[in-house]
Amino acid sequence: AKRMGKGKACFFNPEMDADAQDRRKLETELREAVERDEIDLAYQPIFSARTGQITSAEALARWTHPDRGPIRPDIFISVAEECGLIDRLGEQLLRRACCAAQSWPDHVRVAVNLSPLQFHSGRLIETVRRAIDSSGIRANRLQLEVTEGLVIQDVDRTFQQLEELRALGIQVLIDDFGVGYSSLSCFQRFPFDKVKIDKSFVDEIATSRTAKAIVQAVVGLGSALGMGVVAEGIETEEQMRLLIEGGCTHLQGYLLSKPVSAHVFQQMLARPHNF
Ligand code: C2E
Ligand code: CA
Ligand code: CA
Ligand code: CA
Repeated sequence: AKRMGKGKACFFNPEMDADAQDRRKLETELREAVERDEIDLAYQPIFSARTGQITSAEALARWTHPDRGPIRPDIFISVAEECGLIDRLGEQLLRRACCAAQSWPDHVRVAVNLSPLQFHSGRLIETVRRAIDSSGIRANRLQLEVTEGLVIQDVDRTFQQLEELRALGIQVLIDDFGVGYSSLSCFQRFPFDKVKIDKSFVDEIATSRTAKAIVQAVVGLGSALGMGVVAEGIETEEQMRLLIEGGCTHLQGYLLSKPVSAHVFQQMLARPHNF
């Protein structure tokens, strides 16, 4: 029923029916994949702009469907959110990411994306704590990426949970900053450890004065508030140069490395290289 939104009339339509069936099939298959713990993680290295070395990796969910091949994570994550699977899937991914980080050098952190819905169950803190404990990593090796959409509902409870995560020693990053319902007031409520500038600004930094000015403003905010600034989605040398000159502290993008398997990421760590 939720899918009928956007003010469209809800009359019978064979095409929509096929679509809905397709969606239900995908739900069932995702449920099975989650039950079998088949959703994997790829790791995209993040580099220090200052030293050129890997400081962390963002864990990105991967699902290869038996018939349809790889399904985009933004698609299956939203299916998981709609059909009540996100808590279970989120917990599996957290555990998997913490376990992977356990075999990396101590200074390399792992960043895990959280769905805003994971803040609704009331069990997030316990889930995170258990994932850390069972992997044996120190809490400060884990970073959690949250989006601004998070703070739309139940603001007080959300910020309270962020405080509790922070109290465990975990770093909290604000993701996709600058798009959606941006509000600078969220920095007044919570001291994020890092800001990730959305790819849309990185895409245009070499061609748009506005994009460049926005990046500059975020870097200024970051340095005034003691937050690192991560630029994501870097695809060209020119973008990278402008972002380094502009004062971004961390760099991520296909230019430096695509997301890779846990195995390949470990090999990259074993053969340290600067960009
Ligand atoms: P995101 O958190 O903004 O993740 C960054 C996305 O940008 C990833 O796409 C990454 O592969 C892609 N990317 C990184 N560098 C470049 C680049 O230079 N060029 C281009 N074109 N793309 C680049 P991916 O893996 O397809 O994930 C898409 C979105 O799905 C993520 O956006 C995030 O919102 C969601 N997602 C992925 N994994 C998880 C997860 O484990 N949990 C949750 N809740 N959401 C996830
Ligand atoms: Ca992210
Ligand atoms: Ca992002
Ligand atoms: Ca995004």
